[in-house]
Amino acid sequence: MAEKIFLEIVTPEKKVVSETVDIVVAPGEMGEFGVLPGHIPFLCKLRVGELRFRQGNAQQHVAIMGGYAEVLNNQVTILATAAEAATDIDVIRAKAARERAERRLAESRDKLEFARAQAALQRALARLKIAERQ
Ligand code: ATP
Repeated sequence: MAEKIFLEIVTPEKKVVSETVDIVVAPGEMGEFGVLPGHIPFLCKLRVGELRFRQGNAQQHVAIMGGYAEVLNNQVTILATAAEAATDIDVIRAKAARERAERRLAESRDKLEFARAQAALQRALARLKIAERQ
């Protein structure tokens, strides 16, 4: 049997994914990276974005709200601030978050408020994009 990868995605609240897969593609802070069986050990920070993995012909998409990835011995461990499988994303909530963030961006009075609104907008946009993939 061909070598596989064990993928685990956990957040402070829950285990989002625990699966044996063929390939993982994750949103690294320095750019997207792919992991196939036999990958060298590796640790990196993740940005807000899309993680996808494939099992045979089936591809799944997960929204990752930043965190860390560790690759070791054909295991990929993702410690995410928050993460949702595409099918678990509440689109109405994400649209409301996007509108709130856009309003806050327009009304922000200092750099910190602006940066927080920008980060919230980024999270909402990532969720909306990934929800469309299901
Ligand atoms: P909101 O303003 O809607 O709470 P947020 O970006 O501030 O959005 P986070 O702090 O990233 O939310 O996440 C808090 C919790 O809510 C996490 O468990 C996350 O998985 C979940 N969550 C946030 N938005 C959604 C969504 N649109 N659909 C499903 N779960 C979500």
